[in-house]
Amino acid sequence: MSDQRSDQNYENLFRPLNIGHTTLKNRVVMGSMHTGLEEVKNGTKRIAAYYEARARGGVGLIITGGISPNLAGRVAPFSSQLSGKKHLKDHKFITQKVHQAGGKIVMQILHSGRYGYHPFAVGPSRIKSPISPFSPWPLTGRGVRKTIKDFIKCAELAKESGYDGVEVMGSEGYLINQFLVTRTNKRKDEWGGSYENRMRLPIEIVKGIREACGENFIIVYRLSMLDLVDQGSSWEEVVRLGKEIEKAGASIINTGIGWHEARIPTIATMVPRAAYSWVTKRIKSEVNIPLIAVNRINTPEVAENILKEGHSDLVSLARPMLADPDFVIKAKEGKADEINTCIGCNQACLDHVFKNKVASCLVNPYACFETELVLKKVKNPKKVAVVGAGPSGLSFSVEAAKRGHEVTLFDRGDEIGGQFNFAKVVPGKEEFHETIRYFNVMLKKHGVNLKLNTEVSTQELESGFDEIVIAAGVRPRKLTIEGFERENVLSYMEAINNPSKVGKSVAVIGAGGIGFDVSELLSHREVKGRDEVESYTNEWGIDQSYDENRGGLSRDKKLDFSMEREIYLLQRKTTPHGKGLGKTTGWVHRANLKKRGVKFIGGVEYQKIDDKGLHIQKGGESQVLEVDTVVVCAGQLSNNDLYAKLEALGKENIHIIGGAKEVTEVDAKKAIRNGVELALKI
Ligand code: NAP
Ligand code: SF4
Repeated sequence: MSDQRSDQNYENLFRPLNIGHTTLKNRVVMGSMHTGLEEVKNGTKRIAAYYEARARGGVGLIITGGISPNLAGRVAPFSSQLSGKKHLKDHKFITQKVHQAGGKIVMQILHSGRYGYHPFAVGPSRIKSPISPFSPWPLTGRGVRKTIKDFIKCAELAKESGYDGVEVMGSEGYLINQFLVTRTNKRKDEWGGSYENRMRLPIEIVKGIREACGENFIIVYRLSMLDLVDQGSSWEEVVRLGKEIEKAGASIINTGIGWHEARIPTIATMVPRAAYSWVTKRIKSEVNIPLIAVNRINTPEVAENILKEGHSDLVSLARPMLADPDFVIKAKEGKADEINTCIGCNQACLDHVFKNKVASCLVNPYACFETELVLKKVKNPKKVAVVGAGPSGLSFSVEAAKRGHEVTLFDRGDEIGGQFNFAKVVPGKEEFHETIRYFNVMLKKHGVNLKLNTEVSTQELESGFDEIVIAAGVRPRKLTIEGFERENVLSYMEAINNPSKVGKSVAVIGAGGIGFDVSELLSHREVKGRDEVESYTNEWGIDQSYDENRGGLSRDKKLDFSMEREIYLLQRKTTPHGKGLGKTTGWVHRANLKKRGVKFIGGVEYQKIDDKGLHIQKGGESQVLEVDTVVVCAGQLSNNDLYAKLEALGKENIHIIGGAKEVTEVDAKKAIRNGVELALKI
């Protein structure tokens, strides 16, 4: 697969696009992503370095994270705003860096409306959103006029800062979207009621920006093509607005999918690649300006295919640009198999942003840390042994080898990947194959001496190596309850490697990330004869014909999820299941299992396992779950014995990283970062 990828020339992807006053060098747009860098020390330098790296990597057009045109429009109390000259210096610094690197950059203007997480939030009407505790203040007619002026002023300041244009954020449920639909707009004045009135706000904004900023300025409008909420826009309204936005002077229309409050996953890893390009294609014949397709476009061949099939003129990649700043250049130079692919996990990007932490990337810890994590070649290369080819051992080996060290990587297994090899077989987590492919290619490229099927001894390690890195990972925790040694009690590794060993009724002990993954795997049922996108849209109630309900929702949500297995997912805690899962994806995992009828039982005590099944106590009462199989997902223990042995031998220059060092809260994100950090120090 990797070779095929590199052999392609991606002719559509690299065809320049003339947009009137200027030409984009290729069809790849870096989509807008908030990074949280604006709010940290040295923020401007760090943002500039982050965008500069992507511009150098060859992306055709960068769209910045959202910047508010006024105080009320901020997403959170300290989010960025551009409404006066005092911030021009910072923005000029950013645009200069991008232009020097050969890139083009437009600034996204985002007014959060009722999504504003602060008491000054405004909206068309006083209707609170389900995702913010603050009820918005309804804008007066004067307030609406003033907001339009603020958008225009913001665009003028962006132009003065050197941006090549702006993107007007009209989707994802933010202010403009709130004006467009009766779900949130109950106004009786010229901004509410008929669709003509409701769509007046974005039209006036785009018209005003075009008049103020002139022809030589890019205006991208992010059009909500699929709201995925009740009382969202109808398809006729979407098309009508698209045509009006074109008339108002926009240069490009970007696609917006789903309000933030929608309960349908739109970018999580279980969403099939390119699952939404069909929406963009639907509007293609209705407008004459270029269109951008979005969401889950993470490889050059997926991007090329969208363009080749005529779904859009450009493709937007947001998270994949965090995962690999050189995505474009690698595809162009026939090195697509070297691309570090975004796996759609959200763990280090969106989950961080929602916790007010700086965004980064699980597979690429350098993202947004370009000025903090700097890789330099070493003057005196060392011989380094690494034990364990899981996430931490792999990231360490590749980065240390890039610096010039001579690295030998040992693993007792017959393939690299460690715990990733369990994740990759879970339905919806197939993207982990890409990370393993990436590391395989990188080990080879940087000359790491890989020794699989090798149980390395302390003697071998002691002689011949200047530094030893133990990255031996984890092993499943064993329980002490009676009956644990029975044949029908499996570790999660055994169950994942061999699901056919699991009976028709099963109790899963432990509802952490792995308990959820195992339940997903065991509850999954293939529906034959449907393609991936069709299965996904059916499963989540999306209406591809878009002619029944508003917002693209399907009326028929009665789908058949009857399971082949009866599954109990158990935990001792009394908190809701999956509380510790990712902030932006935990609800998807919960909803998925609930739909399939997995029974969540919390607050249990495990008593014993016998011929009858698993005996538990809950609320002081004993009960037996009559199951064929028990799968234990009760966390892990560190594989640190080798480290302890070497330490006892008085060996110096030994290091321990990843799960081998610390199991609590160590996941792939921390393990990979651990590996990179040590490699930059050693
Ligand atoms: P985990 O998240 O720590 O969950 C293990 C669960 O087992 C605990 O929630 C605990 O729940 C239970 N447990 C612990 N000790 C037990 C004992 N002695 N007896 C019975 N139950 C016990 O660990 P994990 O699921 O193995 O995951 C390992 C790491 O990988 C974690 O950092 C996790 O976040 C990460 N991961 C993440 C994802 C993801 O999708 N984001 C997926 C897989 C793994 P109770 O104490 O309440 O019973
Ligand atoms: Fe993609 Fe995960 Fe990285 Fe986010 S953290 S950019 S979803 S790989």
